Amino acid sequence: MTTKQMGVFQQPDRKNILSSFLNLLFPPLCPLCEAGIKEDAFCAPCLSGSKRMDGPVCLLCGRPFASEAGIHHTCADCLKKNPPFVKARSAFYYEGTLLSAIHRFKYGGNMAFLKPLSLLLSHAMTLLNERPDIIVPVPLHKERLKKRGFNQSLLLARELAKGLSVEVDCMNLKRTLNTLPQVDLKEKERVINVKGAFTVKDPSKFKGKRVLLVDDVFTTGATVRECAKVLKKAGAEVFAVTLARVGHM
Ligand SMILES: [Zn+2]
Ligand SMILES: [Zn+2]
Repeated sequence: MTTKQMGVFQQPDRKNILSSFLNLLFPPLCPLCEAGIKEDAFCAPCLSGSKRMDGPVCLLCGRPFASEAGIHHTCADCLKKNPPFVKARSAFYYEGTLLSAIHRFKYGGNMAFLKPLSLLLSHAMTLLNERPDIIVPVPLHKERLKKRGFNQSLLLARELAKGLSVEVDCMNLKRTLNTLPQVDLKEKERVINVKGAFTVKDPSKFKGKRVLLVDDVFTTGATVRECAKVLKKAGAEVFAVTLARVGHM
């Protein structure tokens, strides 16, 4: 074969060859059990240790109902008082393997969990079934950010935004009060703790926009509600997704 004839063959994509070769040498691992898997995801046995939030939930706040048999409807709390967001949904219950994955990511700073967790977060988007104009992560106070080194909600929001081709704004919603960690507080204390903690710098940026608030965990919802309140005050229509949610409190 002449060199000229060889020239008609398409040049193989070097990048693809390199990544296949690297995958052969170092197959991607499930960060939970370190079993080899094909993509940046948890393996099936690890995932089966977590529970998807696919049962009936409150149409507004996304609270799961104790019985799996019914249909989606509005919960008693939302009937009494509308939440400041239009709709909130979570992908999984905050328990089992997902709880330990979130801990290892958020408190252990293990970034191998970022891609698998954002894949799971996209399940909450399917349940939400709304298209946002802007994605806004729940902000950390700058002192907390200094200590942790990263905002887990921002990292998750960025990954989610890639798949949706929507802009992430992490500058306009600010946490201006350095509150106590919610994890140590009871439900009522949580509401008081985050009251007045958030500010929108430039309300015109959010006015008339469908804003998607992103957080890792929805416990009592105090943080998401307080953020949604200030976003709504800025003129936004607010939706919220979280990776996990505490089931029944
Ligand atoms: Zn695994
Ligand atoms: Zn509700």
